[in-house]
Amino acid sequence: MLNKLNHIGIAVKNIEDTLLIYKKLGLELESIEEVPSQKVKVAFIPIGEVRIELLEPTSDDSPIAKFIAKRGEGIHHLAFGTDDVVEELNLAESNDLRLIDKVPRQGAHNASIAFLHPKSTLGVLIELCQENH
Ligand code: ZN
Repeated sequence: MLNKLNHIGIAVKNIEDTLLIYKKLGLELESIEEVPSQKVKVAFIPIGEVRIELLEPTSDDSPIAKFIAKRGEGIHHLAFGTDDVVEELNLAESNDLRLIDKVPRQGAHNASIAFLHPKSTLGVLIELCQENH
């Protein structure tokens, strides 16, 4: 089952510029990595048990670049944590939620992730996230 808010994804044009804002709040960068399959650079900022995930597009055809072009920078998705992302996908599908990912893919931090379609969740993009330790 879903057991926590894992992270909040925020679409940004530039991670370095954005980090300056979070540093003003006393928050620290944990790590930056590139996720080529998503065409993004990802920075994690821990805050308690949750992380802020900054997403910067690495190419103009990145889904994040399209999001920023259409809606501007800002909150992009909520990620709910689970120990079994496949089970959550099956549950969501059996309850008539639309899936973007029918099978999980690899996200940042070596997590297995899958997105639900925002059309079936009233505009909120929801990521299911299983951390693989
Ligand atoms: Zn995410």
